Amino acid sequence: MFINGKWKEAQNGAKFDVLNPATGEVISSVADAGSQDISAAIEAADKAFPVWSSLTAYQRSHYLYTAWKIMMDKKEDLARVMTMEQGKPLVAARNEVQYGADFLLWFAEEAKRVYGQTIPSARPDQRFIVLKQPIGVVGAVTPWNYPVSMITRKLAPALAAGCTVVLKPAEATPLCAMEMFKIFEEAQIPAGVINLVTAFDPKPVGDEFVSNPIIRKLTFTGSTKVGKMLASKAAQHMKKISLELGGHAPFIVYDDADPIHAAKGAVLVKFLNTGQACISPNRIFVPRHMVDDFTQEFTKRVNAMKAGNGMDKGVRIGPLVGPDAIAKVENQVKDALEKGAQLITGGTRLTDSPLENGFFYAPTVLSNVTKDMLIFREETFGPVAPIIAYDPEDDVIEMANDTVYGLAAYVYTKSTSRAMNAFERLKFGIIGINDINPTSAAAPFGGMKESGIGREGAKEGINEYLETKLGGFSI
Ligand code: ADP
Repeated sequence: MFINGKWKEAQNGAKFDVLNPATGEVISSVADAGSQDISAAIEAADKAFPVWSSLTAYQRSHYLYTAWKIMMDKKEDLARVMTMEQGKPLVAARNEVQYGADFLLWFAEEAKRVYGQTIPSARPDQRFIVLKQPIGVVGAVTPWNYPVSMITRKLAPALAAGCTVVLKPAEATPLCAMEMFKIFEEAQIPAGVINLVTAFDPKPVGDEFVSNPIIRKLTFTGSTKVGKMLASKAAQHMKKISLELGGHAPFIVYDDADPIHAAKGAVLVKFLNTGQACISPNRIFVPRHMVDDFTQEFTKRVNAMKAGNGMDKGVRIGPLVGPDAIAKVENQVKDALEKGAQLITGGTRLTDSPLENGFFYAPTVLSNVTKDMLIFREETFGPVAPIIAYDPEDDVIEMANDTVYGLAAYVYTKSTSRAMNAFERLKFGIIGINDINPTSAAAPFGGMKESGIGREGAKEGINEYLETKLGGFSI
C-alpha cells in the first residue's frame, strides 16, 4: 500500500494473492488492508489537503504533467503488467495505457481552467461572486476491467481540483494500481496527497469511505448493485457521489446501413476486453430482412478471433476475470437457448491446452434473441453477442430504451435525420453514431438511469470534485 508517501505492508501483516486469469497462476501477493491501514490513509489525505489545495493550479498541473510524461515512458511496462494481471491482449493494454495517460494530460490542462463567475445583482450596492473550491478528501473505488485508466480518470481531475485521495482498486488488479502509484511517487506528488489501500474484501474500505466524515466525496466505478448500496449509505452523510455503473448497450442497425460495415463495427465493440466493458453492446437490433447477411458477416469475423493468453501475438480474446464471470455467461446462454435462441457459434468454455487453467469462454453469437430472455435484461460482461430481429412496424428506439440502464448506445445509419432522431430519443449518456469508440479524455463519459450519476473526463469531470461557493457582497 502507499500511505502518506511510503510503501507499506498491512499493519497486521495480512496479504492476498493476485492471479493471472489466463493461466490461473499466482503472480504476486499484496498487502490486505485492515481497519488501521484504512484510517491511516484517510488521515494522511486529510492532513495533506490544506497544503495541496493551496498550491496554485499551475503547480498542481505541473505534477500531473510530470506524471503523464513518466507514464508515457513506462507505457510498455504498464501494458505488460496489465495483460498479466487482467488478461486483455497486449495491444488492447497499450491502448488502455494511452487512454489512461490522456486523463493526466487533459486534467493537467483543465486544472488551470477552474473558472468562477461574477453575476450581476438587481441591487446596485451588491456584487455576486461564485468561487469553485476543492471538495476535500476523496474516496475512490475502481474496477478490474480497465485497471489503469479508471484510476487516472478519477485521480487526475481530483488532484487537478485540489483534492487529496484514498484509492481502493479492485481486488483482482492491485498490481496495476501499484504501478500507477510508482509513477505518482516518481512525479514527486507530495506525501499524503494520494494514498493506495489494497484489500481483498472491499466491504470494510467501502463502509469506511461512506461513513468517515473526513471523506467528502465518493467516486465509484463498478456494478449497479454495489453502487446503489454505497450511494444509499453515503446519503446518510450527504456525501457528494459519482457513480459509473453497469450498462446494457443497444446497437441499432437501420435498414439503410451497410450490413458489412455495421457487422464490422459491432464485432469490434462487442468483443472489446472480451465483452467485459460497461459500454459493450448487449442487444444488437437488426432489421429482419438483413439478419442473415449481418449475422453471416458478424460470425465470420468472430470465428477469425483467436482466444488465448494476451501476451501471445494475434490473440484477440482474453480470459474472463474469474469463475463467477464464466458461470454468469453460461447461465445466460443456457437460458437463451432454452427460450428459443439459436446458437450460431461458440457457446462453450474453452478448456483445451494451453487454456485449461484460465477462465476462457468462446466468443459466442446468438440469434433469435427475444425480450423474455435473461440476456435481454441482464448485463452479460462476457463474449456473447445477442442478435435481435426487428420489423418495420417496430419502434426500435423504444425497444432500445427498454432497459433500466442508460450508459452507451450505438446506431448505424446513412440517414442524417434518422441519426439525429436516434441521438435525441435514446436515453443513454453516450451515443456512437456510425462510431464504435465515442470515448476520450476530452469527452464526458457517464450514464443515465441505473448506469450512474455524474460524468468523468471533459470539463464536467473536474466539476465532480469542486464545490460551488457564492459570495454576496454589500458594498
Ligand atoms: P464487478 O462485479 O464488476 O466486480 P463490483 O461492483 O463488485 O463489480 O466491483 C467494483 C469495485 O467495487 C471493486 O473495486 C470492488 O472491490 C468494489 N466493491 C465491491 N463491493 C464493495 C463494497 N461493499 N464496498 C466498496 N467497494 C466494493
